[in-house]
Amino acid sequence: MINLANKELWFVVGSQVLYGEDVLRQVDENGRTIVDHFNLQDEIPVRVVFGGVVKSRAEISAVMGRANVSADCVGLILWMHTFSPAKMWIAGLQALRKPFLHLHTQFNRDIPWATIDMDFMNLNQSAHGDREFGYICTRLGLKRKVVVGHWESEVVIGRIGDWSRVACAIDDQKNLVVARIGDNMREVAVTEGDKVAAQETFGYAVHGYGVGDVVDCIDAVSDREVDEVLERYHRLYTVGAALDVGGDQREALVESARIEAGLRRFLMEREALAFTDTFENLHGLNQLPGLPVQQLMSEGFGFGAEGDWKTATLVRAMKVMGSGLPGGCSFMEDYTYHFEPGNNLVLGAHMLEICPSISALKPEIQIHPLSIGGKADPVRLVFDAAAGPAVMACVVDLGDRFRLVMNTVEVVDIPEAMPLLPVARALWRVEPSLEVAAEEWLLAGGSHHSGFSQAVAEEMMKDFAEILNVE
Ligand code: MN
Repeated sequence: MINLANKELWFVVGSQVLYGEDVLRQVDENGRTIVDHFNLQDEIPVRVVFGGVVKSRAEISAVMGRANVSADCVGLILWMHTFSPAKMWIAGLQALRKPFLHLHTQFNRDIPWATIDMDFMNLNQSAHGDREFGYICTRLGLKRKVVVGHWESEVVIGRIGDWSRVACAIDDQKNLVVARIGDNMREVAVTEGDKVAAQETFGYAVHGYGVGDVVDCIDAVSDREVDEVLERYHRLYTVGAALDVGGDQREALVESARIEAGLRRFLMEREALAFTDTFENLHGLNQLPGLPVQQLMSEGFGFGAEGDWKTATLVRAMKVMGSGLPGGCSFMEDYTYHFEPGNNLVLGAHMLEICPSISALKPEIQIHPLSIGGKADPVRLVFDAAAGPAVMACVVDLGDRFRLVMNTVEVVDIPEAMPLLPVARALWRVEPSLEVAAEEWLLAGGSHHSGFSQAVAEEMMKDFAEILNVE
């Protein structure tokens, strides 16, 4: 349900008519060579499409206009091979509605000391052509990514690839529908927000539904669909003895599979790739969806508990950004601290809904009572998150603007068994320290819910906020 290979970055090369046909032919050829090279790189998950050499205000405006209406184009790479007087760019840049990356490169890597002449200088003049372009972008107050270096450099290719992932997430947010099943948890502040402002800023639409709409879909599920889900459970996970075929609580797993099939149908019918629920609005459901939510998250759906639609959309964005990279992504909550001198740790978990994509080992399906909500015991996946670096982020609504708060953490192995803790969990050390990070997080108004990703880099989250003009 996430396929970045269908998306495009348009590579547009700036020049001007001054140099004559031969030079422009060379500029065109060089541009195509770079595009071909980028398309061979696994680090760039999207298709790079050559958008041509532009030499006038009309050509620039035309390509920007085509990019704006292209459903496949998630962003542009702009590069001035030669000088390209920047007043020509004003109208096009003002009209551009897609994110862009200014690639400051040069076709020729090395100066050819013995043969360099003025023709070479005129052809390879990004060093000052891109400065002219940078000036006009800054003068117009345009948000953009600048990447500097030779186009064959692995670092440059990696940064372009990462940025293209962010552009895909932005594109996804613009088309995203979030289904809110029930409302926000009563009295909770941070999960609230201005949904009109959110749509203006991020693009996603937040639609509310009654639980009965989901129950209707669950009631319509066939036994065959239930069997398909059960087959998947047995294939992907270890099934606890009580829930296995012939186990005394097997019926709870069958019920979970029925809820999952109905929930998936409900979401697909509404083209909603992110959703929320809350234990306070479960009318007609006999258990809070645990395993069904975990499974749907692992397939790429964004999720936020307790009606937290901002985190649901952020989890979806982080899943898009990290698609195809090693490491998973989950909804997360800071739960409990370990205040040991010199070894401060945070135990993250939720009542149920942690995504198995972050698991170190094959997760186990278990059933335990839920301490709140007063419903039947929910089935859930229990596992430890894999050790290694991760990024946590949340979006909060400060009343007049949105703010993205982020922290890098190091997930560590859990030192001792926790046999009585019946939920998926992650244990991490925060950077640079719990004292500094938590103090800043609290002062910034960061949420207790977050998007948690082992695949997304810090720079991607910064670019995400930058492009969306989020603080
Ligand atoms: Mn929560």
